[in-house]
Amino acid sequence: MSTTAPHPAPTQAPDPLEPTRAVVLPGIRPESAQVTELRERVRRVLASSTSHAALTQHDEDEVYDAGLYQALAQEGLIRLETVPGGRGPSHVSQTTVLEELGAGATSVAVSIVVQYMGVELLHRYGNEEQQRAYLEPLLAGQARMSFCLSEPGGGTDVARAMRTTATRLPGGGYRLDGAKKWIGGASTADFLIVLARTSDEHRAAIDGITMFVVPRSTPGISSTPIDTMGIRALEQADLVFDDVRIGEDAVLGEPERGFRHVLATLNGERLNGAAVALGIARGALSHAVGHAGSRQAFGRDIGAFQALQHALVDASLRVESAGLLLANAAEQSDAATGGANETLSALAKLAASEAATTVTDTGMRVMGGWGFLRQGAMQRYFRDARLYTFAPLTDEMIRNAIGEKHLGLPRSY
Ligand SMILES: Cc1cc2nc3c(=O)[nH]c(=O)nc-3n(C[C@H](O)[C@H](O)[C@H](O)COP(=O)(O)OP(=O)(O)OC[C@H]3O[C@@H](n4cnc5c(N)ncnc54)[C@H](O)[C@@H]3O)c2cc1C
Repeated sequence: MSTTAPHPAPTQAPDPLEPTRAVVLPGIRPESAQVTELRERVRRVLASSTSHAALTQHDEDEVYDAGLYQALAQEGLIRLETVPGGRGPSHVSQTTVLEELGAGATSVAVSIVVQYMGVELLHRYGNEEQQRAYLEPLLAGQARMSFCLSEPGGGTDVARAMRTTATRLPGGGYRLDGAKKWIGGASTADFLIVLARTSDEHRAAIDGITMFVVPRSTPGISSTPIDTMGIRALEQADLVFDDVRIGEDAVLGEPERGFRHVLATLNGERLNGAAVALGIARGALSHAVGHAGSRQAFGRDIGAFQALQHALVDASLRVESAGLLLANAAEQSDAATGGANETLSALAKLAASEAATTVTDTGMRVMGGWGFLRQGAMQRYFRDARLYTFAPLTDEMIRNAIGEKHLGLPRSY
């Protein structure tokens, strides 16, 4: 790791419309000049394209900030550099972008986790024609995609729960039927990556599932928005596939091995989810510290009371330890040292999701009634933080994996 200096503090001034003042927390994690430069690029886009007031408004109105997405894409933040050897986009770069976005524009961050997954799947498994038709517009910010795996019957044991089918047609191609649940950005996506069962003949439930890439406008696909408590500026949708006719050219990767293809990209998903959760924790901490330093009781700043100060220090410990684990896991994954990176990524995801839930809880306590204010950022962080306790994998399943693969304990399920 070529470290230089701790990453610098954000340069933008506090937004005067923000009812609570977030402070700029000094960056203490060592990082390379390249990572610092990338962090600064994201901050510049955020400073010029959004504000606390705009983030609140998008959340209140449940409207996706397509302008911010475009600005990020134009800055080249979807098309990030790949690691040497053509192995795919750099985990260090993706997690850096997502931490910065998670610290404020959480819903856009979540949508970019999905876009990065699309980039990875199309980069690894797309043929030349699919890369031209789908990957290039995605990288250029001219198209957005949704990833359709979870179903009404289950997300954790999704292979066994999968009822969506793709039936081969006598004249070639497939007929897609079924339903998907909780699909982020599905109503406005340009194309979908869909997992569907194509065979029941395999012994393992994870086999016999094929991955497809289909335009969202294909006849027979319909969506209904779901009202969720968090990530409200990115709509989640129920999707129905009713006699959807698709060609052979829609198959992404090897037929019957689609779920295995997805599992192979799960490391990146864990890291990217951890990065957004870390950003939420860091953003909440900067608001809580700002409030503690400016609100008074009993003639002193409330931050002078040890009960609050220690809670904020503990929150900072959560943020920095999750940040160090994540940086290490992302570097190891880029270096492809194999084996250990999976456990590090799982630990980083767990540390970041716990940082997000505990730091936002601390933030709500420190802010008293002001945490409840709908125009304030804290209640949004508090709600949004819940997502990464169960996505892309639940924390319980991550613990199962660490217990089995790292501690060598018997499989618990
Ligand atoms: C805002 C939002 C956005 C989402 N975006 C997408 C998306 O874009 N695409 C997509 O495909 N999906 C998406 N999802 C779905 C998400 O991935 C699932 O919610 C998640 O995988 C969990 O599945 P579930 O909700 O069905 O929970 P379940 O699988 O029903 O799990 C319920 C509980 O049982 C526990 N459990 C299950 N098995 C075990 C075990 N063996 N050991 C211990 N505990 C266990 C779980 O940990 C959890 O606590 C999204 C969900 C939300 C809410």
